[in-house]
Amino acid sequence: MKTILILGGTTEARQLAGKLVTRAAVTLSLAGRTESPVAQGVPVRSGGFGGADGLAAYLTDRSIGLLIDATHPYAARISANAAQAARITGVPILALRRPGWEPVQGDRWIEVDTVGAAVQALGDTPRRVFLALGRQEVAAFEAASQHRYLIRSVDPIEPKLAVPDADYLLARGPFREPDERALLSERRIEIVVSKNSGGAATYGKIAAARALGIEVIMVRRPALPEVPSAKTVEALAAMVDHFVEPAAERGV
Ligand code: NAP
Repeated sequence: MKTILILGGTTEARQLAGKLVTRAAVTLSLAGRTESPVAQGVPVRSGGFGGADGLAAYLTDRSIGLLIDATHPYAARISANAAQAARITGVPILALRRPGWEPVQGDRWIEVDTVGAAVQALGDTPRRVFLALGRQEVAAFEAASQHRYLIRSVDPIEPKLAVPDADYLLARGPFREPDERALLSERRIEIVVSKNSGGAATYGKIAAARALGIEVIMVRRPALPEVPSAKTVEALAAMVDHFVEPAAERGV
């Protein structure tokens, strides 16, 4: 089996790489944005490829046998590039598509399509807002400087937001519901802005908001290309087995 290239930047990508490394040669690709990525335990390459054409050239140059898109559901550009590079080169592609969260009874979600719409949805009246967003997204909230912000991110927000009242927390999940409830209560948060990331690691704030009766502005997911996919690391690893094992070993 030729090398498997996993496009990562998520916990699941790391878990998948750890599972597959015993069965095939694996390279994990990171965008190179996070300053101290968690140790991966597999060979890692870092930085953009230069669009779909650059990724296609990489797949060909390195004789990649299988491309796996295990990027974050909001990383729409790299997912589109991956699908296109697979089309150009004929390299098979699989995707890990973690399902989004669904609202349950007691949730007070306001669903919007973009971060800009989330800013609008906060309204004119000053509120205490918890932003659980990446550093690329929070800048949009400068347009609503009447609110008081608590901003939690993996990497420091630099430059700081040009608003009179913003507090910054640096933390990497997973975040447990009781801790999230304590945080929202202590900071007297009135509304949470979140992406619909899915998975358990960052669900704590959603469950905490529900328990406290706090509204959540939920930014909907972007559209992603249709490629063969699985919802979990285990299911995707099982799909990969069909590429890794010679047909004879499977008794086919
Ligand atoms: P994006 O907008 O889809 O991609 C922007 C560019 O970054 C891509 O065109 C590509 O550059 C490069 N890139 C992205 N992921 C890459 C990877 N795994 N390996 C190599 N290059 C990559 O992505 P994003 O939203 O900025 O996310 C960047 C990374 O952070 C991804 O790995 C993603 O899984 C992770 N992440 C994102 C979020 C989120 O909310 N967006 C949350 C958690 C983790 P070239 O075109 O030059 O190849």
